[in-house]
Amino acid sequence: MVLKLHNTLTKKKEIFKPLSNKEVRMYNCGPTCYSYAHIGNFRAFLMADLLRRWLEWKGFQVKQVMNITDVGHMTVDDSLEGGGEDKIEKSARERGMSPEEVADFYTMAFFEDIGKLNLKKAYFYPRATDHIEEMQRIIAGLLKKGIAYRVKGGVYFDIGKFPGYGRLSGNTLKKLQAGKRVPTRAEKKNPHDFALWIQKEGHLMQWDSPWGRGYPGWHIECSAMSMKYLGPEIDIHTGGEDNIFPHHECEIAQSEGFSGKQFARYWVHTRHFFVEGKKMSKSLGNVLTLRDLVAKGWEPREIRWLLLSAHYRKKMNFTERSLHSARSTIQGMENLLSNLRNIQRGSQSKRLKGWLKKARKGWEGGMDDDLNLPTAMAAVFELMTSVNKELEKGMNKKDAEDVLSFFRDVDQVLGLGLGSSGWLSLAEAPQEVKDLIGQREMHRKGKEWDKADSIRDQLKSDGILLEDTKKGPRWKRVG
Ligand SMILES: [Zn+2]
Repeated sequence: MVLKLHNTLTKKKEIFKPLSNKEVRMYNCGPTCYSYAHIGNFRAFLMADLLRRWLEWKGFQVKQVMNITDVGHMTVDDSLEGGGEDKIEKSARERGMSPEEVADFYTMAFFEDIGKLNLKKAYFYPRATDHIEEMQRIIAGLLKKGIAYRVKGGVYFDIGKFPGYGRLSGNTLKKLQAGKRVPTRAEKKNPHDFALWIQKEGHLMQWDSPWGRGYPGWHIECSAMSMKYLGPEIDIHTGGEDNIFPHHECEIAQSEGFSGKQFARYWVHTRHFFVEGKKMSKSLGNVLTLRDLVAKGWEPREIRWLLLSAHYRKKMNFTERSLHSARSTIQGMENLLSNLRNIQRGSQSKRLKGWLKKARKGWEGGMDDDLNLPTAMAAVFELMTSVNKELEKGMNKKDAEDVLSFFRDVDQVLGLGLGSSGWLSLAEAPQEVKDLIGQREMHRKGKEWDKADSIRDQLKSDGILLEDTKKGPRWKRVG
């Protein structure tokens, strides 16, 4: 079966065909690391993870890049003009830290969080401040082509010189001009031109450039990092719905203006996210982080499941009640799997083969239809109901193993660690955990029990529990 994805660029569901046969190049707009990412952010990152896992299920290799923004993202980011303060610098001021300290701290926190939520590790996580040169190269190229212009105070992109502007969001220059008037600076050719390089006194993070000391605009960062690691043409670019305009519209203009090639072929966006019916905002005090929820006793995989379980193109309302229901859904799956594992003897089921075939077809069909996880899971739940009934009558080990094997496959995509009560294999561990477990194994082989135990204790104090099994050590996160 073929995968269809809804492409924001064409506003249609399209058959997914990558540029190269085997490898899919995917860029995900990542976090701006000025505070803990909230669960609305994680919904978009999880969608990217689900898409990656589904592409891998279908036999593609996915080269996935997710950026870390640590400069230039302003507090007012929903208009072309942008404004306010650099998010990182504002956070630094409030916390009495340097911008670098803030970015480092929350980047680490981000990696901890995505580890807990079991996101697959991307090929690379480039940081904006490490790529100033690459950004400057694109800006210089745009200036040379006359698509950007210098003014006192920086460099602007000339929207009037890029006819494709507005293709993604519908905000063409004509429409923007007809819309409400925007405050403008006298030096701009057009009030809707956006900044590529900004000179501003008082901005803490600054770099030398041919256009004076300054810092890059937020949009140019993603163009530069995507092009550096994935080339001028990529298959998929993802983000949240609020990234469509101006961020992604501007990324297209800069990248295509510079390279003359189509930047990304499929644009996939996750819809808005609400908590108890309201948009999350600091002023409402309803900004939820993974840490808040874990502190209240929710397991990361319950949150992972809940965030994935609504189709990504539907608005999602996150409620306490839905968390309870996520818990019981996972428990229901765990109970079934545990019953299947503990089967001793029984007769062969006549209908199981047919059920499994139907479930697999429904699951794949749902996922292929624009990652429609609710539809895909309906097929899985139907199988669960049938198998639960069959279990009452008695099943044999072979049948049980067939069902378990199907769930193992499905969980490659769901990433819930089903059937292991949260236990994960060494391959699923972050590198530093892998290294420590490896060292401990060496000590155990050398009968250096004290050293082995001290590594186990160290991991435990970091919230990682180890268990030795016949097949080797396994691990899970606790607390
Ligand atoms: Zn971006």
